[in-house]
Amino acid sequence: MRYISTRGEAPALGFEDVLLTGLATDGGLYVPESLPHFSLEEIRSWRGLSYSELAFNVMHPFVDDAIPADDFRKMLDETYAVFAHKAVAPLVQLDTNEWVMELFRGPTLAFKDFALQLLGRLLDYVLEKRKQHVVIMGATSGDTGSAAIEGCRRCEHVDIFILHPYQRVSEVQRRQMTTVQGDNIHNIAVRGNFDDCQRMVKESFGNQSFLGGKTQLAAVNSINWARIMAQIVYYFHASLALGGPDRSMAFSVPTGNFGDIFAGYLAKKMGLPISQLVIATNRNDILHRFMSGNKYEQHQLEHTLSPSMDIMVSSNFERLLFDLHGRDGLAVKTLLENAAKGPVSIEDYRWKHARKLFDSDAVDDKTTCDTIREVYEQNEYLLDPHTAIGVRAARTCRRDPAVPMITLGTAHPAKFPDAVAESGVSVEPPLPAHMADLFEREERYTVLDNNIAGVQEFIAKHWKNA
Ligand SMILES: *Cc1c(COP(=O)(O)O)cnc(C)c1O
Repeated sequence: MRYISTRGEAPALGFEDVLLTGLATDGGLYVPESLPHFSLEEIRSWRGLSYSELAFNVMHPFVDDAIPADDFRKMLDETYAVFAHKAVAPLVQLDTNEWVMELFRGPTLAFKDFALQLLGRLLDYVLEKRKQHVVIMGATSGDTGSAAIEGCRRCEHVDIFILHPYQRVSEVQRRQMTTVQGDNIHNIAVRGNFDDCQRMVKESFGNQSFLGGKTQLAAVNSINWARIMAQIVYYFHASLALGGPDRSMAFSVPTGNFGDIFAGYLAKKMGLPISQLVIATNRNDILHRFMSGNKYEQHQLEHTLSPSMDIMVSSNFERLLFDLHGRDGLAVKTLLENAAKGPVSIEDYRWKHARKLFDSDAVDDKTTCDTIREVYEQNEYLLDPHTAIGVRAARTCRRDPAVPMITLGTAHPAKFPDAVAESGVSVEPPLPAHMADLFEREERYTVLDNNIAGVQEFIAKHWKNA
């Protein structure tokens, strides 16, 4: 399998190189040159498979000969064994033909574990083969950092440095990062805000001389192709559990960077019958505004009760734009260069095509709270604020009640107790048993000034072979 850049100028790469690369050298994102396609008969034959067996069937064409089949199977078995539910992604029924797929049974209680548990293992496998080492550097305002740390904790060839804004992440989120023990895990609390952290990461990627040429930086943010790949699997999993592929399904997906929903779009292109895909955003609604009015325009960032979806631009949307433009990289390049300067639109027939593929809705904080309360009153089931946005959008946009509507449950409500409290539901969501001692575990992190030279010096001094 070859991978090409959405901006058409960077060289095509194989799976291993795509795994180790963040952005393509032309600023684009990597996508597969062609998608595998599965017949209904083949998909039907996957009924009854375990999650990890299904994952192998869906992902193997993307990995191809980069990893021998037996090794890849073993890696997937290990990856999905760490989830605290036998079904890995269990479905919970909310109403007649309405479901939540719980993607928060992994070690950090959010769906990012599906991809990052695998990514850590893939990286280590490839680095072992190549006798290489990488330093992962990332900035987090919450979920991604903990999922990346958990994903890399057993890696021999990876050191991970995660920057978070000092005293500006929730205690649960901080503890999920700082209580993971391992010599290769380094938490840095920066005396600054999230943007300061992100700027330092970006600049460090731009100039890696502080590492003295002895190792290199790698990225685990949501533009990494392997993350998207891992997320395609659970669309097949949900469909097969509810009578697919002989029935069509609808999915509603809480969206920030367009990663998770893009995976659903790919599942459909790969042959899974999906009749509706709903983009569910919070007040940071650039995607909903584009879908409703063909205008792609950055607004000021708003802080909401669903912080993991607080974004101004949606990086993975570029991958969809590439398809909408008939995979013309130069057209995408021009469009996105213009988008950095001001609002842009695409040709009307292309936009109409996008509207056929997706429905969308934007949900504000009040409606998020109303939905948490509504579902609790109806079912005694607690939603986290991100999932609540998905459920609300599902109920607003649904077209056919005969088609099962599945909302992706992206986080466990215990991660966001403040939103649950604000909704007026009077129960406090408890942490799952396997994490109940989170507040007693020993924390390890280093507080550093908001100064890139100091942060880089710390990294240069503390990675494994420094
Ligand atoms: C990251 C995240 C999202 C958004 O996912 P994208 O792939 O960026 O669209 C939604 N909900 C939760 C809980 C998340 O952590």
